[in-house]
Amino acid sequence: MTGPVVPILDNHAHLDPFKGRHIEAVRDFEKAGGTHIIISHMPYGELPVKSIEDFVKSYDITVALKERANEETNVKAFATVGPYPGELVDLAELHGLEAAKGIMMEAVDLAGQYVRDGKALAIGEVGRPHFQVPQDIWDASNEVLAHAMRTAKEADCAVVLHTESATPKSMKELSEMARREGLEPDRVVKHYCPPFVLPEENFGLMPSVLASKDAIEIALEKGLRFVMETDFLDDPKRPGAVLAITTVPRRTKGLMDKGLMRFDDAYQIHYDNPRKTYGPSFV
Ligand SMILES: [Zn+2]
Repeated sequence: MTGPVVPILDNHAHLDPFKGRHIEAVRDFEKAGGTHIIISHMPYGELPVKSIEDFVKSYDITVALKERANEETNVKAFATVGPYPGELVDLAELHGLEAAKGIMMEAVDLAGQYVRDGKALAIGEVGRPHFQVPQDIWDASNEVLAHAMRTAKEADCAVVLHTESATPKSMKELSEMARREGLEPDRVVKHYCPPFVLPEENFGLMPSVLASKDAIEIALEKGLRFVMETDFLDDPKRPGAVLAITTVPRRTKGLMDKGLMRFDDAYQIHYDNPRKTYGPSFV
């Protein structure tokens, strides 16, 4: 007799169809016990994005990877699509900042359309560059981000944030920004988040905590309102640059074996929390 299978979600992973192991990585995830994965769009080196048409091609690659994972494995795969924050910098070099911002805004609208068409679960990752940028780029990034929040509200979906390192101060600012745009903070996922599980740390945003041992143990001491991620990069030339694709299932099972995470706790983290954040499309 085997007990019920615990759902295990990697809330943020990247797959690279050009240079990575993509579907093989999803198989590794499944073998380790993973059941759900959210494949986050990011720009592909082989497909430089210069126009809105390029965003269509690029999003379609991520959606196709998600569909392939659903066809060829038993893992339930979802995609998020959106203009990656660093793309504003590249587009601004090509077209000037105003035109670049316009293309980023259109790419947000396009992402909203992908959600409405059922091709994507949420809009992301969007936000602000994690590196220092001039003030005008920063301001334009915030405008694109606010537009992404409005678009998420209209499409009734979540938005996944990529920003500078999170602090309670920046979480508060982002939470207030979401409210201003009419989006509930609990539909905003902070990707690459420290274990900010307490309300006074996350201000209602859903923390997607990097699944390192320390971070998850700290998170569990504070509560259960968080999700787990690897930010897997699928770049075989940089092994160890980020967590392995098997990390979330291994960490979850390890903590369950040690009695630090009960079945019901895992169920909340890996299923109830994402379902509340992403909505009923997450199954
Ligand atoms: Zn990412």
